[in-house]
Amino acid sequence: MTRSPILNGASAKSALEFLAGGGEMGELIRSYDWGASSIGAPDTWSPTLRMMVRFLLANRFPLLLWWGPEYIQIYNDPYRPIPGSKHPRSLGQPANQCWAEVWDVIGPLIDTPFRGGPPTWSEDLELELNRAGFPEETHFTVAYSPVPDDTAPGGIGGVLATVHEITEKIVGERRIVALRDLGARASVAKTTDEACKAIAATLASHVKDIPFALLYVSDATGKRARLCASYGFPRDAHLGPADVDLLSEGGSSSWPLAAAARTGQMQVVDDISSKFGTVPRGPWADPPTRAVVIPIPSPSTQQFSGFLVAGISSRLRLDDAYQGFLNLATSQIASAIANAQAYEAERQRAEALAEIDRAKTVFFSNISHEFRTPLTLMIGPLQGVLDSNESLSDTAREQLTVAHRNSLRLLKLVNSLLDFSRIEAGRVQASYEPVDLATLTRDLASNFRSLAERAGLEFHVDCAALPEPVYIDREMWEKIVFNLVSNAFKFTLEGRIAITIRRSGGLAELAVADTGTGIPEKDLPHIFDRFYRVEGAQGRTFEGTGIGLALVHELVKLQGGAIRVESTAGKGTVFRVSVPFGSAHLPQDRIGAARSASSTALSPASYAEEAARWLSHQTLAPDEGSSESKSASPNSRARRRILIVDDNSDMRDYLGHILAGEYSVELATNGEEALAAALASPPDLLVSDVMMPGINGIELLQRLRTDSRTKQIPVILVSARAGEEARIDGLQRGAEDYLIKPFSARELLARVRASLQVAEVQREAHAALQTQMDELERFNRVAVGRELRIIEMKNEVNDLCLRLGEPRRYPLDFESESKEATV
Ligand code: ADP
Repeated sequence: MTRSPILNGASAKSALEFLAGGGEMGELIRSYDWGASSIGAPDTWSPTLRMMVRFLLANRFPLLLWWGPEYIQIYNDPYRPIPGSKHPRSLGQPANQCWAEVWDVIGPLIDTPFRGGPPTWSEDLELELNRAGFPEETHFTVAYSPVPDDTAPGGIGGVLATVHEITEKIVGERRIVALRDLGARASVAKTTDEACKAIAATLASHVKDIPFALLYVSDATGKRARLCASYGFPRDAHLGPADVDLLSEGGSSSWPLAAAARTGQMQVVDDISSKFGTVPRGPWADPPTRAVVIPIPSPSTQQFSGFLVAGISSRLRLDDAYQGFLNLATSQIASAIANAQAYEAERQRAEALAEIDRAKTVFFSNISHEFRTPLTLMIGPLQGVLDSNESLSDTAREQLTVAHRNSLRLLKLVNSLLDFSRIEAGRVQASYEPVDLATLTRDLASNFRSLAERAGLEFHVDCAALPEPVYIDREMWEKIVFNLVSNAFKFTLEGRIAITIRRSGGLAELAVADTGTGIPEKDLPHIFDRFYRVEGAQGRTFEGTGIGLALVHELVKLQGGAIRVESTAGKGTVFRVSVPFGSAHLPQDRIGAARSASSTALSPASYAEEAARWLSHQTLAPDEGSSESKSASPNSRARRRILIVDDNSDMRDYLGHILAGEYSVELATNGEEALAAALASPPDLLVSDVMMPGINGIELLQRLRTDSRTKQIPVILVSARAGEEARIDGLQRGAEDYLIKPFSARELLARVRASLQVAEVQREAHAALQTQMDELERFNRVAVGRELRIIEMKNEVNDLCLRLGEPRRYPLDFESESKEATV
């Protein structure tokens, strides 16, 4: 039935004066042709209906009145948006016509109260209303109450609906759940594929908002993307290619990934069934008709880490809220993918590092084996010659001793590396035996006593007997004690070293305490790492590899024990090693087992001897001062003086030995000493090690260059740091030359001679220049004197002329003339 619902008659209006007010709806209701409806003209309305309409128009809550058996609709302004495009036709319209699409749901809800039943109520009534040109997902909280009217048949005049639309709230909450699920489930994925699968699985339980989705992931070049996960349609449905070229816009039957990549914007795709054929229905009766393609940002690169193709619900408008939700979901997806990628990268990095570490271990293992053979073949014969009664000259004996000692030192280093690589490779073979740990430790420590005393350190050993033996590997315990004590000696310049053994909390505890340089707090967590060394640590020597403590750590673990360190920079350090009593904690098959691998143990003396070399020259040989001349020749005054600085006493002696043949040599054990010696009496040349504790070679050079007394001293730097860069660095800082270890005696001599020659030539040039300048000066003085004399003489001539009454021979300003005359 069609009719014009609006009546433009002033007379009808006047009949409705009782309906004054009521906003837009009041106006519409007053001008409506109610006479044509089944509830009749207003002047025939029952008092209840009149009262209800007045009540409804005065109310600010959305209210709708269904009146009479046809449920003719009357509603107020707040209700007005609910019917959407059905308004204004919905006014005065029978309810079953207005809400035909949902009549099967709401019809019975109205019927019940109208027919005398109880009021009906629904907190969330979900309706697919067709009020915006498409069936829309909507949600309402409704209460339908009967309106009693005595004039009506059955006593009920109609039904009052109190309606509150909650679509926004319901959909919004649902989306929050989706976002939360995405965050919780997808962000724990460990690979990109896992993350995509988790994202797809999560979204698949939120099909009302995203009925289907495809997740594409960009490759490293950012030029292609591959389909990583999807849901919402059968496997064989071709809703998207597996691989997409991001640089070409693609054909009509593909998603606009390239456009999304190019613009960085969400792309809306309409009428998707015309591109992809049948699109699955999803949760509603109709399939989605639109989809969007959203680029997924990457936190680390300019490119996008992927693209989300998301179906849009056929029951919702793609409004700001929907787009906002999709953007938030994309952000969650982006962070899930980024997390997974970071995790993957981290794992790959860790694997690569582990691989390098394994390779390093194998390398060390091989190389240390390789080193040990030639070293043994050097140490044996050297030892043989030194032990024999062969008559050797003092010089030869001294040189052979240096060679022997340093071969041993190298062997010790190589053994440490070998131990370490054996432990890493799980090839180490301990042999545990019950040991009187206190006595053993006391004996081991005693090897350092005389050395400590020579260095002026207090040396306390307090190893009272323990109640029971401790099972340990003797060789390994030796290395633990020697390494800790020699470190204490290396890093303690004054004060004391204390070694104690006692029972502590059911364990045997070894403590090696010193009052030395200490370890800065930031270095403590790394101190047991392989090759870790504290930068700029003040010790007796710069020598070291950073392997000692790492090895000690591993050896302690092999005893079933633990090691701790407490240290305060500048105050001192305590290393505590604790091992359990008994043998229950050890692998039983290694108790009293025989060793098959070659031993890497060295004599206790070799540790103490090495440490002895760190003592300054002075302390070792009281008859030789550290800066004393080593020249043998009595007329050494005439010789050039060379100052040698090196913290390694063997190297210092070696350099001194080579140069003492031709030069007068002075020795300094560190940068400070060298600086003081050079300032007190500048040498002709300085040879300095680069790596030294305290002032290193480079700093020494800089300080010498800033003082006029030492500015001109030529300096040769000696370093183990090979490579063109190190050399250029040294030379740029003003060193005359740079020598890389190892070098031959001839090379050193040649460089020293060359540097001295250059310095000599420069000195001569300076001297010649000075002489020339002096001569010039003298000549100048004579010339000026002559000129003054000429002026004097001219004055005398003029005077004589005056006395003779003759005119002056020379003008008064004769200076210019006189100059010409003298030219
Ligand atoms: P190395 O002595 O060859 O450098 P270590 O592994 O034995 O190697 O020691 C690593 C670093 O730990 C040392 O370079 C030093 O900086 C620090 N260190 C070890 N023992 C002590 C100590 N007793 N006092 C101060 N620093 C120490």
